[in-house]
Amino acid sequence: MITRFAPSPTGPLHLGHAYSALLAHDMARAAGGRFLLRIEDIDRSRARPEWEALILEDLHWLGLSWPEPVMRQSDRQAAYDAALATLWAQGLLYPCNCNRRDIAAAASAPQEGAPVQGPDGLVYPGTCRALPRPGTMPEGVALRLDMAKALGKVDRLGFRETGARHRGAVPLDRDQLIAGVGDVVLARRGMGTSYHLSVVVDDGAQEITCVVRGEDLFEATAIHVVLQTLLGLPTPVYHHHRLIRDEQGKRLAKRDDARALRLYREAGKTPADIRAMVGL
Ligand code: GLU
Repeated sequence: MITRFAPSPTGPLHLGHAYSALLAHDMARAAGGRFLLRIEDIDRSRARPEWEALILEDLHWLGLSWPEPVMRQSDRQAAYDAALATLWAQGLLYPCNCNRRDIAAAASAPQEGAPVQGPDGLVYPGTCRALPRPGTMPEGVALRLDMAKALGKVDRLGFRETGARHRGAVPLDRDQLIAGVGDVVLARRGMGTSYHLSVVVDDGAQEITCVVRGEDLFEATAIHVVLQTLLGLPTPVYHHHRLIRDEQGKRLAKRDDARALRLYREAGKTPADIRAMVGL
């Protein structure tokens, strides 16, 4: 079993991250496998080297270790370009110039019915899908996946889940993917990739066999499975774990710095205390 922890260096790690990293590490170790680290820093406007340094420090303090060198998404653009080129060559991508406001306006037009929320926000109403596609893949603009067309190329659709809430074989429904997920952005404007594309390409490159992550990403997994199939990558097993919440039942967010692992560390807590606090 090969698992990974894939933090974005956009803030301090909190208890929820500690749970995710420890669980991925423990599962790999129990299976005699490997635990890998990947720094998800595609969003250059938010990623900071000092957050990355603190993340590494926190993870070492927790007692985790991983093979070096660590994969960093900011080094991986060539792999993302290659994946986009593969999808473009199959006619599955199209450029999109809509901003959030355009999408909200088009999605609430009377003929569209009620706007639908997907894993990335409002389901894209398809405004740019019908525009003529340029002969070569444009750079710097947003590129969307034509979901209906993509699903025409895919026959196996589903994944295996080992997390408690959805345990078992999870089948994916084409109509739900088209109506409830839609034409997701695979390359963000000025970024050349997106979370969905990068995570799939990199889980493939690192040969991850079991993706351990929070259940807030369960819905996004459908997108990842479609992309894996289109790109000829194996679909790993998924283990979506419960989220660590505060006393009010609110999900811990990165900006909730009061629960940063570093503060527990500085207050004299031990890694064993952290394990106990997250129920491991
Ligand atoms: N980088 C993502 C995060 O910080 C995690 C992605 C994943 O595990 O698939 O939330």
